Amino acid sequence: MTDSPRTTEDEELDEIDMEAQRPGLDDVNVEVEVFSAVRDQSAFPVQPVRLTPDDTFTFRCHKDLACWNKCCHGADITLTPYDILRLSRRLDLRPAEFLLAYTVPAMHEKADLPVAKMKTGGEDGRGACPFNAPEGCTVYEDRPSTCRYYPLGMVSMKMKDMEGKDDFFFLVKEKHCLGHCDAKAQNVGQFRQEQEVEDFERVNRGWIDILMKMASWKVLGGPMGKAPDQRTRKMFFMATTDVDSFRRFVFESRFLQTYEIDPAAVEMIKTDDEALLLLGYDWMKNVLFNEPTIALKEQVLQMAIGKAREAMGAA
Ligand code: SF4
Ligand code: SF4
Repeated sequence: MTDSPRTTEDEELDEIDMEAQRPGLDDVNVEVEVFSAVRDQSAFPVQPVRLTPDDTFTFRCHKDLACWNKCCHGADITLTPYDILRLSRRLDLRPAEFLLAYTVPAMHEKADLPVAKMKTGGEDGRGACPFNAPEGCTVYEDRPSTCRYYPLGMVSMKMKDMEGKDDFFFLVKEKHCLGHCDAKAQNVGQFRQEQEVEDFERVNRGWIDILMKMASWKVLGGPMGKAPDQRTRKMFFMATTDVDSFRRFVFESRFLQTYEIDPAAVEMIKTDDEALLLLGYDWMKNVLFNEPTIALKEQVLQMAIGKAREAMGAA
């Protein structure tokens, strides 16, 4: 039998086979640390003990401890979208003003996406948080998620043989923190309730999901094998840190002519910052991962299909 010449069809089939062999998101394990105000990484166990909401630990923080306020120096605090909203409102600032005065831009190491971190004092960045005062935290009711969780850290994870995502917690035991010497016992669930993290978790969930998914894709070179470009990263930063800029973008660009948004939702996002954040997450999930979280308008869709056909010479 002689070899027949290879056709374009053969090559296309090869490509399809390669696609099938390329690892996908379901083939990787990923764990993303979402919060932990760990100052001294060297004093920290590489594999933290995983805690579920029912696991108990002993801890109590109060003013009479010799370590009072020590944890508010040199803390590495990544601000979540809802942290930025709450702190801006508390200080009667618009998010852009808050970002400028109190944060520095940074890259989320695992997800490779831009985030805002709290500015700390001192030339080496190990000084006090701007909201720290001798009597304690001056923004206590609106303190960021990382501060609420401390001494717990939170990791979001997805294992390759697992259906959905899962979160677990771990105890941050830094030498300076004497709260661990107190006998007050509580489980993780009770502690989270006491720290009122529910609203924070609800509004931040979509942002955590995006970080998590990006971290998974990073192992494979980025979403669908390609790292997001600078413009996409900038859009992510805008949508997740500055609701005013994102609102202007939604109402002053072609956004509403491009995407199918329910009229009641359009009305709502004119004034509701939390709802706007949720729309921002949906939009970014669509832009980054092509998820059907937000729909293109029929006319826009038809035009896109027409253009794609033209590019393929099929029009
Ligand atoms: S926001 Fe408050 S609790 Fe958090 S580091 Fe600053 S002073 Fe401390
Ligand atoms: S007990 Fe820990 S959390 Fe409380 S003030 Fe001391 S160092 Fe900070």
